[in-house]
Amino acid sequence: MKDKHGRTIDYLRISLTDRCNFRCIYCMPEEGVESLRHEDVLRIEEIERVVRVAAGMGVRSVRLTGGEPLVRKGVVDLVRAVAATPGIRNVSMTTNGVLLPQMADELKRAGLSRVNISLDTLDPAQFRQITRRGELSQTLAGMEAALAAGFNPVKVNAVVVRRLEQDVLAFAKLSIDRPLHVRFIEYMPVGESAGLDGCGWGPEDVVPSEELLGIVNERAREQGLPELVPAGDDRPIGWGPARYFEFPGAQGTVGFISPLSRHFCGECNRLRLTADGKLRPCLFSDDEYDVRAALRGASGEEADAAVRAVFAEALGAKPDDHHDKVGTERGMSQIGG
Ligand code: SAM
Ligand code: SF4
Repeated sequence: MKDKHGRTIDYLRISLTDRCNFRCIYCMPEEGVESLRHEDVLRIEEIERVVRVAAGMGVRSVRLTGGEPLVRKGVVDLVRAVAATPGIRNVSMTTNGVLLPQMADELKRAGLSRVNISLDTLDPAQFRQITRRGELSQTLAGMEAALAAGFNPVKVNAVVVRRLEQDVLAFAKLSIDRPLHVRFIEYMPVGESAGLDGCGWGPEDVVPSEELLGIVNERAREQGLPELVPAGDDRPIGWGPARYFEFPGAQGTVGFISPLSRHFCGECNRLRLTADGKLRPCLFSDDEYDVRAALRGASGEEADAAVRAVFAEALGAKPDDHHDKVGTERGMSQIGG
């Protein structure tokens, strides 16, 4: 599947639900979240159908996200079905990890290839402040469960926010003794988080990756550690617009994802499907194409053809370059990050 700018689009990111067991300060308001109506959310069989059609058009990788994908009923069956879809080479998931202790093994057996765990701080009080409903021990237990279940790579994604003053070196050091791949993500002031309801963090809270790399290295020097060096060819599999580094001799890597400071639109290979069945060509645009209507307006071959047409339309609408606009009407929990 090629877009009109010649990029190969082979990655579909699917939000399974807009619901979540956390209320991260940069993602969702604390109270009064209006959830999608049950009937507006794509059913598991509908998602399976979309994946089948997308795979027929060239999608090779699927990432399941949310909201929290593990609170979605039927998620293990969906993983199994997606993994078994002809053409799909891997199915991965982004999760806050809370439910991994009880689900990691069955997800692995169902065919989940990789897991990314979102964790922004190693400080229990700060973790409570950020997630509003979570305990650090839960997400750490999820990380351990993912490693124990044999997922490889296990990536840990941390959103860095200037005024939180997170201990970024402590994070980077997680990669030394175990095969953990830490990735620092620039905070994106989007959705509710940028509005009145959220944390009030603004553009001044973005720490550009280049600056962050300098901070990690400076802290490393202070502690008598070597600096990060560019990672070798054994960087973690899984396409991603990250730049990878490592501490010499470390088992894992440290990546930097820079949606704001380093525009990677030219390399963008993905489409996003929201939980209510809207296809988004770009994270930073509110342009949406209605897959749900296509699915529900027909049956059998005809529905497949209608879904294909919506994909083709969304593909044609993928912007070629970065927008100055980073705000979106929907929050991250609705788009899926
Ligand atoms: N609940 C799952 C989780 O937290 O991993 C999946 C959904 S969450 C919306 C997906 C990713 O988006 C997470 O890694 C989260 O940290 C990230 N995210 C949410 N809001 C963000 C923001 N304002 N800026 C940067 N990343 C954000
Ligand atoms: Fe939930 Fe993930 Fe958003 Fe946090 S970042 S509120 S865990 S969807």
